[in-house]
Amino acid sequence: MVTNKNQKTRKEFLPFCIPEIGEEEINEVADTLRSKWITHGKKTILFEEMFKNYIGCKHALAVNSCTSALHLSLVCAGIKAGDEVITTPFTFVATANVIVHQGAKPVLVDIQPDTYNLDPAKIEEKITKKTKAIIPVHYGGHPCDMDEILKIAKKHNLIVIEDAAHAVGASYKGKKIGTIGDFTCFSFYANKNLTTAEGGMITTNNSEWAKKLKTMRLHGISANAWNRYSSEGSWFYDVLYAGYKYNMNDVLAAIGIQQLKKFERMQKRRNEIAKRYNEGFKDTPELILPAARTYVEHAWHLYPVRLKDGTLKISRNEFISELKKENIGTSVHFIPVHMHQYYKKTFGFKEGELPVAENAYRQIISLPIFPSMTDSDINDVLSAVKKIIKNNKS
Ligand SMILES: *Cc1c(COP(=O)(O)O)cnc(C)c1O
Repeated sequence: MVTNKNQKTRKEFLPFCIPEIGEEEINEVADTLRSKWITHGKKTILFEEMFKNYIGCKHALAVNSCTSALHLSLVCAGIKAGDEVITTPFTFVATANVIVHQGAKPVLVDIQPDTYNLDPAKIEEKITKKTKAIIPVHYGGHPCDMDEILKIAKKHNLIVIEDAAHAVGASYKGKKIGTIGDFTCFSFYANKNLTTAEGGMITTNNSEWAKKLKTMRLHGISANAWNRYSSEGSWFYDVLYAGYKYNMNDVLAAIGIQQLKKFERMQKRRNEIAKRYNEGFKDTPELILPAARTYVEHAWHLYPVRLKDGTLKISRNEFISELKKENIGTSVHFIPVHMHQYYKKTFGFKEGELPVAENAYRQIISLPIFPSMTDSDINDVLSAVKKIIKNNKS
C-alpha cells in the first residue's frame, strides 16, 4: 500500500516487457553452438515442424524477421510497382514499409474504435482497380474480423496477407491465426509473445507459394544450404529468381524450439494478467479497457488502456512520465503510419484523415504484460495507475 504521496509505488523499475528466457533456451543454444552447425539446418527445420503442428497449417517457413516475412509474401503474391495494398495506420511501420519496398502504394483504412483493428466496413470505399492485397494486423493479439475481410477479398480478387506479429496462439471463431489468410506472418522479435531474439515465420496452405517462399528466402537458389553443405548434399545449385537473404539460423531457431515447448504456459499467464487488469480497473471510469470479442482467443501480446477525454488534468504523455516516476515502464502502440514524416511527404497523408486511429494514438498506453510478471508486479501497476488518476482528476 502506498501511504506517502512522495513514496514510489515500487523500488525497482518494472519494464514494459521482459522476454521469458530460461536455462532451456540457453542449453539449446549452447547445444547448437557445440554442434558447429549454426545457420539454417536441423534446428530450423525442427522449429518449422513444431510451429506448423502447433498452428495446424500446411506449411511454415522460418525467416529472419516478420518484416522479411511480410516482404516475401508481397513478392510471392506478385505485388509490384503501381499496385495498391490496403492496410491499417495503427501498426508498426514495417507493415507499410514493405509495401513501399515493392514500389506499391500503401492505402490506409481507419480502425475499429474498440479492437483497434482494420475496420472492414471502411475497406471497400478505398478499393480501386489497382488494389491487389489487404494486410490486416491483429493488433495486440486480438484477431481481426476475418470473415468480413475474406469476403471483401474474394469479391475483389485480393490476396490477404495477415500481419500476425502480435498473434501467435490467437484464434478466430475456433481457427488458429496462421490457418486463415493466404499468407500469415509472425514475429519472434525480442518483445513479442514468442521470441527467438530476432526472427519470423510465414504460414500458408498453398504448396506452390510455399515452394516459392522457400527459394526466395535464400537468394532464389533451387536447393537450400542445408542440402548443399551436408553429407547428403552436393555443390551444385541453380538460381531461379533474384531472391533475398532472409533465412533463419539454427542458433535462433534453438530458442524458438524451447519457447514453443512452454508456449501454452506463457499464454495462460498472459491471460491471467489481462484478467487481473480487467478486474482491477473495472471501477475506473477514466480508463477505456481493451476489448475482447466472445468469438476470439486473444494472444494478449499487449494490454493497452486509453485515458478518457475530459476526465484527467494531465495528458497521456504526462501520465507516462508519472508512471515512470512510480517505476512502471510503458510503451505506446502505435504512432499511426500516416503521421510519420516520410509517409506524409511521399504519399500526401494528412493528419485528420484517419480520426479513429489518431484519437486512439493520442490516448493510448501499453501497460506491462509478460509471463514472468508476479501478482505483486500486477498490483503495483494497478496501484500506480489508480494513484495517478486519483491525484489528477479534472
Ligand atoms: C514487431 C512488428 C513487426 C515487425 O517484426 P520484426 O520481426 O521485428 O520484423 C511487424 N508488424 C507489427 C505489427 C509488429 O508489431
